[in-house]
Amino acid sequence: MNDQPLIIKDGIYQYPSPILSRPVANYDLDLPETEQEIHRDSMRLQSVLDQTPQGVAIAANQCGIRKSMFVHRLHGDYMTVINPRLHITPDQYVEDILIPEGCLSIPGMTVHIGFKRYRQIAVSYFEYPSLSFIEETIEDFEAQMFQHEYDHLCGMTILDRLYFDYSTSS
Ligand SMILES: [Zn+2]
Repeated sequence: MNDQPLIIKDGIYQYPSPILSRPVANYDLDLPETEQEIHRDSMRLQSVLDQTPQGVAIAANQCGIRKSMFVHRLHGDYMTVINPRLHITPDQYVEDILIPEGCLSIPGMTVHIGFKRYRQIAVSYFEYPSLSFIEETIEDFEAQMFQHEYDHLCGMTILDRLYFDYSTSS
């Protein structure tokens, strides 16, 4: 038993809860019971966001679920993103963060400078409830949000991105 004490506020695990620094697992879409699991997890994330007017999106592990899902409401309605992937080529345009970036797991901290986000990215994921496979290119704030939530699912937060330069990483 070497886990640090968990700090949970309004259903959201707070930094430095260990669950925030562990990569999550993909949903196994071949299993018949997975759809019910996805439904339950999506409802849970939506209800947490309902209580969090300042948040645009939340990743499953921020709510204690170690699965590859995030929910956002960038376009009004809730959107559920399953097993997301980022497809980045080395020559893609990179710039400093577009707008100040905060995190529901690190309240009170807003990052204005110090790390880079891609302005435009190609992404793929499964969408719930249709479970259809989506491939698209997104940009600006939507791309920034996607990178933030994808980082969570990889076990990273904005604190891990400080001073990290994508353009020099392999
Ligand atoms: Zn966050």
